[in-house]
Amino acid sequence: MVDVIVIGGGPAGLTAAIYLGRLHRACRVLDAGRSRARWIPESNNCPGFPHGISGEELLARLRTQAESFGARFEQASVAALARSATGFRIEGEDGRCWQARAVILATGLADRLPDIPCVEEAVACGALRLCPVCDAYEVSDREIGIHGPWDAIVSHARFLRGYTARLSLLPTDRDGDAADLDGIDVRVLPAKGQLVFDGKRCGYALDDGCYWFDTVYPFLGCRSSAHLAAQAGVALTGAGEIPVDAHQRTRVSGLYAIGDIVSGLNQISVAVGQAAVAALHVHGELPFAPRG
Ligand SMILES: Cc1cc2nc3c(=O)[nH]c(=O)nc-3n(C[C@H](O)[C@H](O)[C@H](O)COP(=O)(O)OP(=O)(O)OC[C@H]3O[C@@H](n4cnc5c(N)ncnc54)[C@H](O)[C@@H]3O)c2cc1C
Repeated sequence: MVDVIVIGGGPAGLTAAIYLGRLHRACRVLDAGRSRARWIPESNNCPGFPHGISGEELLARLRTQAESFGARFEQASVAALARSATGFRIEGEDGRCWQARAVILATGLADRLPDIPCVEEAVACGALRLCPVCDAYEVSDREIGIHGPWDAIVSHARFLRGYTARLSLLPTDRDGDAADLDGIDVRVLPAKGQLVFDGKRCGYALDDGCYWFDTVYPFLGCRSSAHLAAQAGVALTGAGEIPVDAHQRTRVSGLYAIGDIVSGLNQISVAVGQAAVAALHVHGELPFAPRG
């Protein structure tokens, strides 16, 4: 029986582990190793890194820091989470089991990516970007495409128009209607072109040729891992989200949720802030543990 098991070893889960270790709580992190942060070629809005930091480097630093305060890590994909008489029972896909008094769920989201060959390379070189809040600054005044269902890309046009005048909408489902744009001056290309990647740039191929971009932002949605919270008895919202209070508590006693899995603003700074709040609250709720 561990004090706290953190499920997910991205920025949220790793920060929670740092705090719990420094609170002298026994903490184990179970992680499947697919943090969204691993996609980040270089983050320039991560506080304290004025020259930028890659996602892999940030994850490695956070893990080293958590381990230095006693957090233990296991590579594991959690398949089941259930409330028990004394806390929680957690089961891995490979049949391993763990027990904890409290659980912090930090399992994040998985982006739905366009179906193009070498899509990971396209993200790594910045031809494809997934988060304008994260990195649109880096492509200010460049040729940018927004790819996805019309309603989704229209809702991002205003935000990205603040970064460049060379903005095109590349709808996947239907031809766009200029009336939806509320006067925002962007180029709208015909729907259902083919997104392509030539090793350096992404293009949008139509019958009359291919339009090339310095970067393309796809908005194809995400897959959530909120089902683990539901298994433990949390009633998800109609949109499939996990409701939490100001301490990051779910409605199931002892179960917390932090990071992209609950945040509307999917950012590292938000994830680490929520982690600190949850870790301190869990600590206060666990049995008092005076030092001998
Ligand atoms: C291309 C890209 C660029 C980005 N750039 C920036 C940026 O510059 N600045 C910024 O602030 N944010 C950026 N972000 C967003 C940032 O990566 C996320 O906000 C952040 O990673 C969220 O942290 P998290 O810990 O909540 O989730 P994640 O980092 O996604 O971590 C979740 C972890 O949980 C694990 N997991 C999931 N399910 C299970 C399971 N069942 N069992 C065990 N483990 C599980 C996953 O494998 C993963 O390791 C970027 C995202 C992308 C995709």
